[in-house]
Amino acid sequence: MNIIFLGPPGAGKGTQSKRLEAQYGIAQISTGDMLRAEVKADSAIGREAKALMDAGKLVPDAIIVSMLESRIQKPDCAKGFILDGFPRTVAQAEALDGMLKRLGRKIDVVLMLQVDEDALAERIAGRFSCAKCGASYNDVSNPLKVENTCDHCGSHDFVRRADDNRDTVASRLTAYRNETLPLLPYYEDRVTVAYINGMAPIEEVSAQIDAAMSEVEQITQK
Ligand code: AMP
Repeated sequence: MNIIFLGPPGAGKGTQSKRLEAQYGIAQISTGDMLRAEVKADSAIGREAKALMDAGKLVPDAIIVSMLESRIQKPDCAKGFILDGFPRTVAQAEALDGMLKRLGRKIDVVLMLQVDEDALAERIAGRFSCAKCGASYNDVSNPLKVENTCDHCGSHDFVRRADDNRDTVASRLTAYRNETLPLLPYYEDRVTVAYINGMAPIEEVSAQIDAAMSEVEQITQK
């Protein structure tokens, strides 16, 4: 099962794609996480990407596409993958189509997580994740069950992203509107696009996604 997750920053793509990763035994691929790892390692890619990420701008397609191409050929993607944060431009989508064709694979579904823009800044300002296992949380909508303790691994170490501040969020939303939204008509013409109401509570969002996935599974098994 090969899935693309679309939606604005802060829509909940990370939370939901990690859940699907466990449910389907397929790999979650977040190009944002990959870039943050490059920045942390102070690699050539990381040094080029950092200033753009801090400004809420997109990293050049060529860097992202080659990073993604090697990633989807790793063994953990053999059963499938969930793309979280990629593609973000029509050029990236075209490059993805080309590489999947060469690999004899295809996208089964695009999940479009829809959230009101007004809600995003607040959501993003409240989010943090476990430094050890990567589990995502939100001060308001998805708090820790026990103070300062990860629900999943018990770690007491948490991180907030440098680009989760109001100024950068405004640029990230502009990039989303101008560069990423045109992907919807692109995919509408090519593959099943399931629209998910991302404003609902997390459990309801999960239920909507599971329902959409069951439909896709029925179609792919036919
Ligand atoms: P994310 O974690 O998906 O919100 O991504 C964080 C930042 O990484 C973005 O604001 C971009 O600067 C960069 N980035 C992540 N994925 C992509 C992509 N597919 N294309 C271009 N830039 C990306």
